[in-house]
Amino acid sequence: MALTGVEIFKLLPKTNCKKCGHPTCLAFAMKLAQRQATLDLCPDVSEDAKRILGEASAPPIRPITFGSGDKAVKMGEETVLFRHDKKFVNPCTLAIELKDSLSESDISKKLDEVLTSEIDRVGQKLRVDAIALTNASGDKGKFEAAAKLISSKASGVPVILSTTDPASAEAAVKLFTGKRPIIYGVNASNAEAMANIAKTEKAILGVVANGLDELSTLTEKIKSLGVEDMVIDSGARKAKDIVENNTLIRRAAIKKNFKPLGYPVINFVQREDSLYEALIAAVGITKFSSILVLISIEKWKNLAMFTLRQNIYTDPQVPMQVEQKIYKIGEPTAESPLTITTNFSLTYFIVSGEIENSKIPTRLAVMDCEGLSVLTAWAAGKFTASKIATFIKESGIENEVKHRELIIPGYVAIISGSIEEKLEGWKVTVGPREANGLPAFLKART
Ligand code: SF4
Repeated sequence: MALTGVEIFKLLPKTNCKKCGHPTCLAFAMKLAQRQATLDLCPDVSEDAKRILGEASAPPIRPITFGSGDKAVKMGEETVLFRHDKKFVNPCTLAIELKDSLSESDISKKLDEVLTSEIDRVGQKLRVDAIALTNASGDKGKFEAAAKLISSKASGVPVILSTTDPASAEAAVKLFTGKRPIIYGVNASNAEAMANIAKTEKAILGVVANGLDELSTLTEKIKSLGVEDMVIDSGARKAKDIVENNTLIRRAAIKKNFKPLGYPVINFVQREDSLYEALIAAVGITKFSSILVLISIEKWKNLAMFTLRQNIYTDPQVPMQVEQKIYKIGEPTAESPLTITTNFSLTYFIVSGEIENSKIPTRLAVMDCEGLSVLTAWAAGKFTASKIATFIKESGIENEVKHRELIIPGYVAIISGSIEEKLEGWKVTVGPREANGLPAFLKART
């Protein structure tokens, strides 16, 4: 159970020395209880208190790194049930299932799909993160051969090795030594053997049970065997059961600090009907899955999955922003057009994308409006004539361009005259309202 602020206070030095940045030990204890501070800020806490508080102040869902190197993914560390309370921390990992019963060429084809799945969306690289190899053949040799193919063709991609047979798991996991794979398929009958393999290979265990009671008994048993890094599967496969069990797990971990269920959740949502599979996966993304295993991700599906995941895992209280500066698109000369917009990420990426489409080298002045879009920023008094004039003057652009013409978004045509008044010697041209009008607008000027 989580400790209260007063219980934590009793374990602190009570000297009120302020070294932790808080006025009193009690104030620091309250912050610790709310998980808004970490114990390492107090340099004088005793070893005994560290042990007790360390356990109590650990994230309710165990942080785990799956895979290694650039493509490693982080899981767990979540502290809230709702993203309006606090940002969700580690985005759900999307994994594609490969069966060892597939032919070598089919496995290679799927690996290529995974390796080429990356897209760039509003400045973030998004991709299929992992491969889940299933021992569908039941044959140790085939499982090992497929694992070997994955380790040679997609060596950096995190791997889930799915089998209930410890001998097959051991043969395959040795191909991923040091790469933090997951051995999935750990149950009451193979737990000891799987725990021994995980300890030797420093692998993560994927624990599966029939319901939450069985699951928590099993994770306790595995922990007592010396393995702490686990991902858990309640056995839910239907959308309704995934929502129900994932919610109960998250509640138990966060509200009750119930350690046996304080692990990242893995859900298997494979469906032959691709659209149906996407719908079930969307349920998992929105309701607490840390790993989703799918059969396939076509490009259309990628876009839907990635976009939903990105939206769920951004901070709803902080708009996504890009840096305030003058961006060069193409190779603009001193005569090239100069346009302006706000620093809301989505606005920037849409506007810059349309300018790129025009093939007209252009400078895009992006002004800090606290991440608001053009109309909202104007309405909030952040994209005003005087602020735009100050930004342009201080940006140094007058040394870069020979002309004195600024193209503003059509939505703020109303301030064109005021900008000209405040920005002496400049002409303001009203551009299109929507970014998709920019290519035709820019081409018409050449
Ligand atoms: Fe108390 Fe430690 Fe903070 Fe000092 S640093 S005020 S002893 S909690």
